[in-house]
Amino acid sequence: MGFRPFVFRLAEELDLSGWVLNSSHGVFIEVEGARSRIDDFLRRVNEEKPPRAVIFSLETSFLEPRGYDSFEIRESDDSGSKTTLIPPDIATCAECLAEIFDPADRRYHYPFTNCTNCGPRYSILKALPYDRPNTSMEAFRMCPACEAEYRDPRNRRFHAQPNACPGCGPRLQWFGAPGEPGPEHHDALLRTAEAIRAGKIVALKGLGGFQLIADARNEEAVQRLRHRKHREEKPFALMVPDLTSGQALCHLSEQETRLLTAVEAPIVLARRLDSENDGIARAVAPRNPILGVMLPSTPLHHLLMRELGFPVVATSGNLSGEPICIDNGEAVHRLSGIADGFLAHDRPIVRHVDDSVARVVAGREQILRRARGYAPLPIHASAPAPTILATGAHLKNTVALNIGAETFISQHIGDLDSPMAYEAFQRVCQDLQALYGATPEAIACDLHPEYLSTKFAKTLRPKALPVQHHFAHVAACMAENELEPPVLGISWDGTGYGTDGTIWGGEFLIADGTPFTRAAHFRPFRLPGGETAIREPRRCALGLFFELSGEALFDQPERAPLSHFESRELSLIRQALARQLNAPLTSSAGRLFDAVASLLGIRQRVSFEGQAAMELEFAIDHRVSDAYTFDLKGDDPIVVDWEPVLWEIQRDLQLGVSPGVMSARFHNGLVEAAVAVTQRAGLRQVVLTGGCFQNRYLTERLVQRLREEGFRPAWHQRVPPNDGGIALGQIAAVAQSMGQQPLDPLNEPSGFLRTTR
Ligand code: ZN
Ligand code: ZN
Ligand code: FE
Repeated sequence: MGFRPFVFRLAEELDLSGWVLNSSHGVFIEVEGARSRIDDFLRRVNEEKPPRAVIFSLETSFLEPRGYDSFEIRESDDSGSKTTLIPPDIATCAECLAEIFDPADRRYHYPFTNCTNCGPRYSILKALPYDRPNTSMEAFRMCPACEAEYRDPRNRRFHAQPNACPGCGPRLQWFGAPGEPGPEHHDALLRTAEAIRAGKIVALKGLGGFQLIADARNEEAVQRLRHRKHREEKPFALMVPDLTSGQALCHLSEQETRLLTAVEAPIVLARRLDSENDGIARAVAPRNPILGVMLPSTPLHHLLMRELGFPVVATSGNLSGEPICIDNGEAVHRLSGIADGFLAHDRPIVRHVDDSVARVVAGREQILRRARGYAPLPIHASAPAPTILATGAHLKNTVALNIGAETFISQHIGDLDSPMAYEAFQRVCQDLQALYGATPEAIACDLHPEYLSTKFAKTLRPKALPVQHHFAHVAACMAENELEPPVLGISWDGTGYGTDGTIWGGEFLIADGTPFTRAAHFRPFRLPGGETAIREPRRCALGLFFELSGEALFDQPERAPLSHFESRELSLIRQALARQLNAPLTSSAGRLFDAVASLLGIRQRVSFEGQAAMELEFAIDHRVSDAYTFDLKGDDPIVVDWEPVLWEIQRDLQLGVSPGVMSARFHNGLVEAAVAVTQRAGLRQVVLTGGCFQNRYLTERLVQRLREEGFRPAWHQRVPPNDGGIALGQIAAVAQSMGQQPLDPLNEPSGFLRTTR
């Protein structure tokens, strides 16, 4: 349909070099040239595409320049394995949207309207090939009008598998809290809107699971939702009726606008314009200058948001720590203590798919939670590898399956703390293998023996191959940026199991093919109380001073962290530290952030992971450019010592320096320490990875400083810097260790789907 010639002409017009290629996994384009022209290209590919071309997904990634001298159309490359493309769920297209708001149309107000260009895919697919009998639409028989559309090659609904209309398709139904049936069809939607306006919490069956919806302006309703969901302070995402209302709440750059209005329709994290007076309840995102906003992406959401006309909280339908509900009966059972009513329907959800989360950092898009709209699109590698299943980490778990040169990353599963989450994890492992008809030749898992994902991997055959956590982060970042060893990986996060049995987390690893060398790490300190210290930053601060002074610390009551404890607590902690009971050693950068947040008086206890570090980042005074001092000691590995930083903080506290200035000096100090280690390591290519790089200030400043010093920093774009990226890294690490083997010639495709029509 002329897509490649269109790309060719556009690239020529913008004076960009590179290539375009059609493959069984979509169209791949590489363009090279000035940044502003690449931005224009990205915008115009979307806006000026040929009339009949439809983009189901547009993922971008900035790579190192290759030095192309012209732009060419490359021959289709089908030499790799031909795995079937399973498309993600796609946001409602403009034509379907026009129909559902047209009183004269037969699909007026019909919430399950879709066509070949939009609608549910991954969330309704039971097996390949992607035909109606293999979807959760199998129980619905098309009426003659729908059937005619489905069979007409000139119709927008030609072979649209979930095609439906009010006469033959799924229908809405309202249920009161105890599960008693109420109105159906559009009346159910009106009843829902009425309940939300009245300050009630409604569980709505969305695309990939139930969502809990409440009026975002209603302080009491949002508080009630927090209380019932057992979610204390972690920010809620908002759904806004349209782009204009998003712009009224947040500063949205051109890039952020593109992301918000993209077919993937993720939650976009953006800077809030006026948290005091924007009308949003304080309980939505307490003490947070960032809001997560998304636009409606299904007809059901469009209809509801048009009816309401104001922002709502839209959060996953679960108790904190549990997976999202997908089944009607299960939802009524599990959510009856949370929701005042249910808007359900009779189109089954085959697998849970949460809302995705994305943002723009250092001028590029970055996915923080990869689910609806993105899953299960693969990350493409330059060379094929064996079939590998990776079970991921413990927090923010995803699993991944490699087939040939394609790594399919599952949708976000979540923390594996609850039995229900562990069950969901096992289901997704099965599901990925079954969908792609793949039998793994290798299993990859984390090195941590106590992760449930590791324990599960060890029950599988062949024998699971463990990959060190921080190296998996590095390997993931290298894989998506298409980098080859040697690379210096700056891998900073909360905790991960180290090869020496201690807890790592502030690592500089050289990926050199061995698979790695630990070039440097932060000076280790003890975490009094182990797991408890993760919830109490004050314990991390105490651990730092204990490392310096030992038990003598407890006789210096003027030391900052001591004032945050009661004397009874202190004597217990003192005993535990003296006997080294439940006080593991760690080199964690994340815990260092926590400790500093405590010392600066910002936060002593957290109610969700990363809260202290987030608030420390938000406190930064951006006018401050000076930095605290980290010492580099020793050689093999280098130890990055935070002791001078501690004394500088003590001094600043005595001088009454503001937390904002101290926070800036701490962040700047970390950046300079990372630059200094990079200079000692002597490798030009650097990757920034791990949960700490969800910190925007840290990422952007380190990228800038590394570039100034002549290094080439890369960071995460399509997979999260947090543990959601671990499964990809495990695949890359195991693939490398197994060597690149030839493909199995019998691995033929089991079905076929195209990305453009
Ligand atoms: Zn459509
Ligand atoms: Zn019909
Ligand atoms: Fe991690």
